[in-house]
Amino acid sequence: MRRPLRLAFAFVPTVLFLPAIARGESVAAVVETTLETGSKQIRQFAFDGDAETFFASKENPSVSDHFTLVFEQPVSVKSIAVITGQPGPESAGKLETGVLEVSTDGETFTELAKFANGEAREELHAKPIRAIRIKPTSVQDHPLAVREFTIASDPPVAVFEYPVEIAVDCSDSPEMKEWADKVARLCELWYPRLNEALKSDGYKPANYIKMRISSSYNGVAEAGGGNILGSTKFFKAHPDDVGAMIHETVHIIQRYRSRKNPGWLVEGVADYIRFFLFEPGKIGPINAKRARYDGSYRTTAAFLAYVTDKYDKSLISKLNVHMREGTYKEDLFKELTGKTVQELDEEWRESLKR
Ligand SMILES: [Zn+2]
Repeated sequence: MRRPLRLAFAFVPTVLFLPAIARGESVAAVVETTLETGSKQIRQFAFDGDAETFFASKENPSVSDHFTLVFEQPVSVKSIAVITGQPGPESAGKLETGVLEVSTDGETFTELAKFANGEAREELHAKPIRAIRIKPTSVQDHPLAVREFTIASDPPVAVFEYPVEIAVDCSDSPEMKEWADKVARLCELWYPRLNEALKSDGYKPANYIKMRISSSYNGVAEAGGGNILGSTKFFKAHPDDVGAMIHETVHIIQRYRSRKNPGWLVEGVADYIRFFLFEPGKIGPINAKRARYDGSYRTTAAFLAYVTDKYDKSLISKLNVHMREGTYKEDLFKELTGKTVQELDEEWRESLKR
């Protein structure tokens, strides 16, 4: 069944966008489309700065379909070019008849150019644009391939540097589909920032993740083998707990395989990213009497935040590299800070009492 993919920007708290804009950097984009993805040729491949990768639809598009790039805020666009059809001499999947449309508010669209030989391009004289979309003007007799959007604008729109698609499976809980779609889009939106925090040389993160919400699963949420599993019961009762899915997305990015990595630290890093990058200020109080550095989850996250602030701003990044490469050892804390983990623990617990 084909269902429209509705992305509610209202769902994404504005504050989550603010840091990037405040720094005067590029603007983020999301893809909205009615088209399902075919053969893992994910949506974000259409705007990843690489014309060799492409989005492919599963079905043949019709006039009610669209493929839209929405920006987090309007940008002053100078030119747009869109190329459809797969790379290679046959260039399968070209848009035969269709238009390129733009919108200043993300809702009302006007035609900008017609596609000819699968391509459309136009100059815009610095018009403020919030969204750009491809629309077929007749039923196509084959699936659509979108190779690349190229946009010149001020500020620039960031291409998907870590292209990803989180495919939602709610087959046993269809009532969770809308929630899961929104959470999947949110995790996709955060994927670049999570990856920046946990990058390492030669590491390429997954670009296709399955997120299944299941009524027969009795835990809260878990990640493994490139998949995320969440509980229908839990998320029905706690729809605001999207941070739990950010935590699982971090596990996918960590992709640690070494048995030398202590579980408390793996969970602590995931919760550090959640509580100090994604939702700062939400960690809640840490009990000074019972806290221990290896208390896992948010307790370890708070410990890591203390050591990061006081000793090494790139602590998480360094721990991540060692855990990913299988070279983690407890002495690392001493090497990085000059103090053993036990000494740091005592210092941190003392600071909690103040
Ligand atoms: Zn976890």
